[in-house]
Amino acid sequence: MTERAAAATEGVDSVGFGDPLVEIQNVSKYFPTDEGLFSWLSVNRDADGLPVETGREWVKAVEDVSFTIRKGETLGLVGESGCGKSTLARTILRLLEPTEGSIYFKGRDLADLSGEKLRNTRKDVQMIFQDPQSSLDPRMKVGKIVEEPMQAHGLLDAEGRAARAQELLEKVGLDPQHYNRYPHAFSGGQRQRINLARALSVNPDFVVCDEPVSALDVSIQAQVLNTMRDLQEEFGLTYLFIAHDLSVIRHISDRVAVMYLGQLVELADKRELFENPSHPYTQALLDSIPVPDPRADGRRGVLEGDVPSPIQPPSGCRFRTRCPKLIAPAEYDLSDEAWDRVRAFMRHVKRRDFTETDPEAVRRRYFDGHVPGGSAGDVVSAAIDDIAADDWDDATERLQEAFAEQSVCAREEPDYEVDPEYGTDRHTAACHLHRE
Ligand code: SF4
Repeated sequence: MTERAAAATEGVDSVGFGDPLVEIQNVSKYFPTDEGLFSWLSVNRDADGLPVETGREWVKAVEDVSFTIRKGETLGLVGESGCGKSTLARTILRLLEPTEGSIYFKGRDLADLSGEKLRNTRKDVQMIFQDPQSSLDPRMKVGKIVEEPMQAHGLLDAEGRAARAQELLEKVGLDPQHYNRYPHAFSGGQRQRINLARALSVNPDFVVCDEPVSALDVSIQAQVLNTMRDLQEEFGLTYLFIAHDLSVIRHISDRVAVMYLGQLVELADKRELFENPSHPYTQALLDSIPVPDPRADGRRGVLEGDVPSPIQPPSGCRFRTRCPKLIAPAEYDLSDEAWDRVRAFMRHVKRRDFTETDPEAVRRRYFDGHVPGGSAGDVVSAAIDDIAADDWDDATERLQEAFAEQSVCAREEPDYEVDPEYGTDRHTAACHLHRE
């Protein structure tokens, strides 16, 4: 165990991890839709420095995200493509400036750092990217690639850098003789190992791994993940590990954060999250993991509907437009079964999932021939009449306004603590099903 590894285990908590290394507090990152790469510079701000509405449209790529990563742990960050994972990673590294919020590294606000202090912090925080091919310069020999960050930070002399590069190549599972080869001579897995050696060359504390094994064959993924685990232990590293694949996240993480449309929806210890998923989105992701049973048809279930636009995300809970558990509006007196039927009808009307337009056939299909009583039944009957008149848009609007928009899911942003079933780590889930 290196000195760093020993230091990382000082002051460990009850589950074996140290003090907070990285603290993300209420971080948001917006991009204006009408400008280019550096458009964040022109965000209008009020006297407190917060962005103000100007009538421009903003892509809310990351919104109000908070979490802590403790020394020596791996926090897995998972979500569908485009949910904001990579934008969040780049914002944490300050490759992108946060629109709001603070990022603390070793207790210091990164926004307060400049000059030499910022340079040193950049050395302590490294990143590994998804594509091992394009992140390696094909014209440079492997040894020089690994040495480059050391040279940039003025570490060691030429001889020392070469020795360290060769040592690191061995540590990541390559032959030190590979020092003089070019990247094209290596497989995808080996190239990612070169990236690992490069990131470790400056002895970082924290490594952000952005889909580092997604481009690799499944058989190679486990080998690279195991190497990353070994290196973490040996060098006392802390990882933020981003992936869209829950199997990969399960392999490497200690805790898991689930992201949907720019927000964290669930955060828990790994076992707790996999055994006691408490957000319908996490449950849907888990249900979509392929089943290794040749008799099964692969995926057990897939998420319905498209991810909404991050320019105008849904009010309240952002997952509500796809959620199979949307909560019934309080003003209707509906049994659970009646609400299940109304909810399914509403979802299928919105997606025009059926062809029947005859009112009796629609009633039979969704309500066993009998719509619910009371004002909820009046809305359903009117929507069935709309469909009979081929006014699907009117039917959709009527149902959405009367049911979906009146639900607490549309009216309040959820944020709850869940009693963990496994371990004592904090478990949070952004879902109103966890209201008292
Ligand atoms: S708050 Fe409502 S819409 Fe959101 S996940 Fe929970 S039940 Fe579904």
